[in-house]
Amino acid sequence: MIRQTVRDFADKHIRPDFMTWDESQEFPHHVFKALGELGLMGVLVPESYGGSGLGYIEYVAAIEELSKVCGSVGLSMAAHNSLCTGHILQFGNEEQKMRWLPKLASGEWLGAWGLTEANTGSDALRMKCVAQKDGDHWILNGAKNWITHGISGNVAVVLARTGELLDSHGITAFVVERGTPGFSGGKKENKLGMRASETAEMIFEDCRIPDSNRLGNVGDGFIQAMKVLDGGRISIAALSLGIAKGAYEAALKYSKEREQFGQPISNFQAIAFKLADMATRIEAAELLTLQSADMKNKGLNVNKQSAMAKYYASEVSVYCSNEAVQIFGGYGYTKDFPAEKFYRDCKLCTIGEGTSEIQKLVISRAVLKA
Ligand SMILES: Cc1cc2nc3c(=O)[nH]c(=O)nc-3n(C[C@H](O)[C@H](O)[C@H](O)COP(=O)(O)OP(=O)(O)OC[C@H]3O[C@@H](n4cnc5c(N)ncnc54)[C@H](O)[C@@H]3O)c2cc1C
Repeated sequence: MIRQTVRDFADKHIRPDFMTWDESQEFPHHVFKALGELGLMGVLVPESYGGSGLGYIEYVAAIEELSKVCGSVGLSMAAHNSLCTGHILQFGNEEQKMRWLPKLASGEWLGAWGLTEANTGSDALRMKCVAQKDGDHWILNGAKNWITHGISGNVAVVLARTGELLDSHGITAFVVERGTPGFSGGKKENKLGMRASETAEMIFEDCRIPDSNRLGNVGDGFIQAMKVLDGGRISIAALSLGIAKGAYEAALKYSKEREQFGQPISNFQAIAFKLADMATRIEAAELLTLQSADMKNKGLNVNKQSAMAKYYASEVSVYCSNEAVQIFGGYGYTKDFPAEKFYRDCKLCTIGEGTSEIQKLVISRAVLKA
């Protein structure tokens, strides 16, 4: 039922305009308000905080269906739910949850989550953004880069240094509301794909926030962030799966319609075998993604499993999008057919929330420890 509802929503609110947003790099705010009305901006948030109170299987299905049509909408929805909202849900106290979750879950407010900086992506422990205690306040200075909703987010969870460089207990998480003096949006990135999902810098200049905006204990921020990413990676696996399926379904349909040498190109084994490889990899990616979603629902440790799902599904989305362009031939290289956009969007999946190389680090550490 959720799948069908999201499918209908995407057909009505996203399909007619997604290429226009992509071309102009426009962030479609109204889509996220509408997603809020549908309950998709607080999928995992309990009903007592204004959310839908659903689990990870439903969450995966919703992201997948959005991403089959437009990866940008899938990415923004995933970042809002898993990162900003997810961090407050997992580590906020009761007062903080009551303060921010209802606004985020309803889609009234859009969330951002800032870990990455210009010089620290994979190597987040070297972050320079600093928070200094000043009585019952903290003063934030520095910048966060590559942040989904870095300009449009109404509220951001920000990871800042409160201790020594490279100390995993030297980072703390804070919530900063838009409009707080000293907090501003910076450069918006001009991207290869996911162009309708806003990616921008967040700047903090003597930004003063109350201690009541601190999430959890001083020094717990890095460990919190790694746990948030464990769940977030399931959403990037779902995003990847949606793109892979979208590319595959478009290519399958086209292969039966396009004729060369007096017959549909799907009659050629070279094309049929591409479809077989795509279908097989998609099913394997789906099983890994659903396995990690199921484990997460059961409260199990998904560190290795979500890294495996994210790593495999993201590489499958790149594989399938590449093969889809090939099956479309010259038409696949134009903006008149969907393959071209899947091909540009999919690459983000092997980079965001930890690159494929970093997923392999996580997986190999778990495998070697066992
Ligand atoms: C569209 C988009 C949206 C994003 N949204 C957010 C967001 O909302 N919030 C946020 O905090 N961040 C966000 N990011 C940032 C993203 O998480 C980082 O880009 C990512 O973690 C990689 O960091 P980096 O770009 O600095 O690459 P680098 O860390 O510089 O990596 C460059 C290359 O080196 C490799 N590499 C690095 N270290 C190692 C190692 N130890 N072993 C092997 N290989 C290694 C990487 O795999 C990669 O191939 C977003 C990025 C994009 C593109």
